[in-house]
Amino acid sequence: MAYAKLSGALLVRKGASVAEMVSVPHEASAPVVREGDGLLARHLKSLKLPTFLAQYQRLSHQYAAEGLDPSGYLLRLAEAELIERERQLIERRIKQARFPAAKSLDTFDFVAVPSLDKTRLFELARCDYIARQENVIAIGKLGIGKTHIAIGLGMAACQKGLSVGFTTAASLIHELLEARDEQRLLRLQRRLAGYKLLIIDELAFVPLSTAGAELLFDVISQRYERGSTIITSNLPLAEWNKIFGSEQLTSAVRDRLAHHVHILEMQGDSYRARHGKPQHGNGTAPETQAE
Ligand code: ADP
Ligand code: MG
Repeated sequence: MAYAKLSGALLVRKGASVAEMVSVPHEASAPVVREGDGLLARHLKSLKLPTFLAQYQRLSHQYAAEGLDPSGYLLRLAEAELIERERQLIERRIKQARFPAAKSLDTFDFVAVPSLDKTRLFELARCDYIARQENVIAIGKLGIGKTHIAIGLGMAACQKGLSVGFTTAASLIHELLEARDEQRLLRLQRRLAGYKLLIIDELAFVPLSTAGAELLFDVISQRYERGSTIITSNLPLAEWNKIFGSEQLTSAVRDRLAHHVHILEMQGDSYRARHGKPQHGNGTAPETQAE
């Protein structure tokens, strides 16, 4: 189990609630309301220190009763505030990413996909590639776990507090075309370029319209050396001309992505088929073998 060091010798389990973190081992009696508490509460609200506000009376009581150092009391409160803010940021990042399902790399069975190097994947989960604006392309057939891996890496980035967006290629193109028709393309493009990590799932073997292919290229291009992009596809990179149509556009896409890229070749039997789970429709044409 992971523990975070708070202060002194206090170790706190990661994910523990603030109340757990700052609670005293024995039951403290009811806090005394002092003169100035109302004013302090107002100041703490203005300063946007809600955890500080929620905890200070109980902690001050404990510290006074035990004759402890007041700066230790302040330190403990500041730490509780910071930890709570970090927890809320992670929660916000996960919500904003709009993952289609809750998946984690911890629940991925790497034995089922021998071509995938577990160590390399957990290295990616440390998110250093995002700091270096590198991309990830996961290639493999239907049900091999591409979306699972993409969400797992996305969740890992959220845990680091990074902004993440998740979309499928089909819905991204739909959204871009709609935004273009409604004269708000620039705003959407800015949002898409702003994510530290953008996941474009299911770039499947469906030829795109010329406008769709160009808009998708623009997104990839605008993210070039600004953020990281993860793309999952059932087609190897060499055959992306079947998706993008023109050879010129395909090599421009490849150039932008493949300059700094980690290719994850995922080969093996479909996990979904082997574990008897029903295949759900994804609104795209049937996927083909990647090999
Ligand atoms: P793909 O995107 O390649 O079509 P998915 O990631 O959607 O495949 O996987 C299909 C289902 O099977 C998901 O529920 C996923 O969590 C699960 N799955 C696939 N591969 C594995 C694996 N190696 N270990 C655990 N679950 C897996
Ligand atoms: Mg998928």
